[in-house]
Amino acid sequence: MQVKEIIIIGGGLAGLIAANLLGKAGKQVLVIEKKTYPFHRVCGEYISNEVREFLMQEGLFPNEFDLGDIHTFQLTSTKGKSVSMPLDMGGFGISRFALDAFLYQKAKNIGVDFLLQTQVEEVFFDQDAMKFILTLGDGRQLVCNHLIGAYGKRSKVDKFLERDFMSQRSPFIGVKYHIKTDFDHHTVALHNFEGGYCGINRVEDGIFNLCYLGSKEQLRSAGSIQQMEIDFLWQNPFLKHIWQHSEFLFEKPEVINEINFSSKKPVENHMLMVGDAAGLITPLCGNGMAIAIHTGKLAAEALIKFSRRNEIEQFYNFQWNTHFRKRLWVGRNIQRLFGAKGVSEFSVGLIKRSPFLATQIMKRTHGEMV
Ligand SMILES: Cc1cc2nc3c(=O)[nH]c(=O)nc-3n(C[C@H](O)[C@H](O)[C@H](O)COP(=O)(O)OP(=O)(O)OC[C@H]3O[C@@H](n4cnc5c(N)ncnc54)[C@H](O)[C@@H]3O)c2cc1C
Repeated sequence: MQVKEIIIIGGGLAGLIAANLLGKAGKQVLVIEKKTYPFHRVCGEYISNEVREFLMQEGLFPNEFDLGDIHTFQLTSTKGKSVSMPLDMGGFGISRFALDAFLYQKAKNIGVDFLLQTQVEEVFFDQDAMKFILTLGDGRQLVCNHLIGAYGKRSKVDKFLERDFMSQRSPFIGVKYHIKTDFDHHTVALHNFEGGYCGINRVEDGIFNLCYLGSKEQLRSAGSIQQMEIDFLWQNPFLKHIWQHSEFLFEKPEVINEINFSSKKPVENHMLMVGDAAGLITPLCGNGMAIAIHTGKLAAEALIKFSRRNEIEQFYNFQWNTHFRKRLWVGRNIQRLFGAKGVSEFSVGLIKRSPFLATQIMKRTHGEMV
């Protein structure tokens, strides 16, 4: 069987960034992705500017889309109190439908191979041969020297590897729409409702992303997504207004469940885990995509700089722990706070009274590209 040099499982942001950088460095790369581009995913689609310069330098910034800057943050409480503040770093909005397809095309152009509509089910590391053996959904097997796990929050591979977080159930659901509405193009808003929060920001073509993290329990009690929105989200007058004065562009929303923020290991079974596969930061912080891009870059760097397996793993482990462990920890704790009753009222009051403190908390969940 022919041995591949590097296989990347999952062609989301983390996998596509790693593929582009490795491809440019002349490495032989195969990306295995279970879907086909372009496709929608549940995501707020607000990207922090911490990755803008890196994307520009690498020729991976999606310049061809009309994106615009987002530099203001609006927070509203469950009861509809509102406060706005400037965003220290700011960001931009682009749909994953457009961005992932753009990065896929870039990678293809430099010779990265893709196996689309193909799911990896099992991953085994052969200690004697020092190679990975992957089993695909159709039973085929592939062998490679190096493996990057870029398959997102939760996958069959995690089940196969019996990763710790797989035994925990998550109380959250994620729901996303694209809408046409009358909202400021330069603001990202976070509207709280009891049990969750909903973001809105502009993406390309004058479309807005409307995405929320809600509760499975509320969905169960309401009986349908639509009823849950009326019963719970609409208690915040800002959300009621959006729902009643917007054109919804999808036939039905994109929905996911099992959104788990538990800590994970950045290297698992000798596989370099990138993006959400190494740990998901709460969407509240608005920088999971920046982290996915950054970790994809670090994994590629590890494989470009070093040839010995232990050096590759040590470098990546160290970099990941230095740059992301604390950010994810802060994010987890903010997420816990936001679930609690009355906290959104308190947060709006806090930002009003002390914008400096709010900026400091935000800074703890953001970083710089290295
Ligand atoms: C509700 C919500 C809102 C969010 N909003 C924002 C936001 O506004 N800004 C932000 O920066 N971040 C946001 N995030 C986080 C962000 O979406 C993720 O951090 C980011 O998408 C992670 O990228 P990734 O490449 O790790 O994973 P993904 O983008 O999930 O990509 C993983 C890929 O792997 C594929 N795959 C999975 N299993 C297999 C398999 N076994 N074989 C082959 N392929 C496989 C999947 O099809 C997928 O394409 C949000 C998250 C949620 C849940």
